[in-house]
Amino acid sequence: MRRGARTGGLLAAAAGCLLLAACGGLSWQPTGPGATTSPVPTSSPDNAAPPGDLAIAHNDTRADSVYPEIGDPLVDALHYDLDLAWAPDTDRLTATETLTFRATADAERIPLDFNEQLAISSATVDGAPVELAVAGNDLTVAHPITAERQYELVLEYAGTPASAPAPSARSDFAQGVGWSITDEHETWTLQEPYGAFTWYAANDHPSDKALYDFTLTVPAPWAGVANGVLTSSTTEGGRSVNTWHLAEPASAYLVTVAFGDFQHTELESASGVPIQVWTDADGEALPGDTSFAPEAIDWLERILGPYPFDSFGVLVVDNDSGMETQTMVTLGDSPYSLSAAVLVHEAAHHWYGDTVTPADWSDVWMNEGMAMYLQGMWEAEQEGIPIARKMDDWAAFESGLRAAAGPPGAFDPAQFGDGNIYYGPALMWQELRERVGEKRFFEVLREWPAAQANDTADRTEYLDWIEDTTGEELSAFFDDWLLDRATPPRD
Ligand SMILES: [Zn+2]
Repeated sequence: MRRGARTGGLLAAAAGCLLLAACGGLSWQPTGPGATTSPVPTSSPDNAAPPGDLAIAHNDTRADSVYPEIGDPLVDALHYDLDLAWAPDTDRLTATETLTFRATADAERIPLDFNEQLAISSATVDGAPVELAVAGNDLTVAHPITAERQYELVLEYAGTPASAPAPSARSDFAQGVGWSITDEHETWTLQEPYGAFTWYAANDHPSDKALYDFTLTVPAPWAGVANGVLTSSTTEGGRSVNTWHLAEPASAYLVTVAFGDFQHTELESASGVPIQVWTDADGEALPGDTSFAPEAIDWLERILGPYPFDSFGVLVVDNDSGMETQTMVTLGDSPYSLSAAVLVHEAAHHWYGDTVTPADWSDVWMNEGMAMYLQGMWEAEQEGIPIARKMDDWAAFESGLRAAAGPPGAFDPAQFGDGNIYYGPALMWQELRERVGEKRFFEVLREWPAAQANDTADRTEYLDWIEDTTGEELSAFFDDWLLDRATPPRD
């Protein structure tokens, strides 16, 4: 996400930061304007191996080392079909969710993340009614599961979602994570490091990527916006129904849904990536620097290689944050959130965070360090200064961030998303660049997201790969930058 300017802190001059994601088509999904329904992939008759088109969503799920209470490695979500209706006059969400998942081990129950604020009226597994219990943020479905078998859970539920407290001191997290409702009864979501559970039953962990289809219903002329591609848009009986399809697997924290009174504009990058900007119907069609989105993609493609997804978009909502939600970044309606620098940052996350995603929250520096470094490169270019000088500027306050919230790779769990995970790792990349040289450094930047497309990785996998690719022994170098409480010396 974007690194917000912190009032009274060391970061008054700091840039923002957010996250983004990847691409690939699937044979079972209807695409194009004629598609009006989203077929749900169903379990095969004998509950055997999943069909090939869901294999892209297979992950090695794990329990989180920082926030172990959220997510469960027993579940490998493959596809979420979320049919959501929003009633602005009552702030009521009415939903039917179909979750197709793979069990990773034998168990007596299905564990998911879901907030008790929403009432479940019906639940089935593979078509048969099941009992369940919800307590706090935990949903337990009383149905045994067998390793490697695939299941389809269907839930009907309704209520007014409540956002959840964020494990963060950031001002833009003050209203919590998950589903938010504005004074005008519009809605938006921001859910890093978690919060999907405030509005759907999820394995709400970055190690578990899944495909998504959305059917979003709201009184016209309002509309629902989500990740991916708009596959149909109809208005009937005073109700607007939009269907969206995300063709590449996404972690739950990279999912976005908003209901509101929107207008949208279509743009395109020089390489042909379709880009859409969704924003308030009453304002400018391209607020802030959103018209810069194609150039942001162009600039990043020159450094990182082809954009890793089929489409890009910007969704402008009424908050103070910014998030690299996959293929549809969610940006607050403020000059800073809608600046070109933040667009570069959030678009950069599509290579670093979205197509390759940290498998554990202790590695969120893998997202923010590189997005921040790329943002710094872009800013230095704009300012006509060497990147080394930009890094000197950042180094002036980096040690304070590290002291306040911990080392980037072992941060204080109560201070998620603080400046420590952004600036220290950005400085580390500059040091690596000076150490291995331009050619090898930029090969590392381009090759890692391409090699890991639509996957997750942890730091061991990533750092070993960098050592192999550069031929350098770097374990002490990375340990110093990621785990020391003091900033290592810079060359
Ligand atoms: Zn970011």
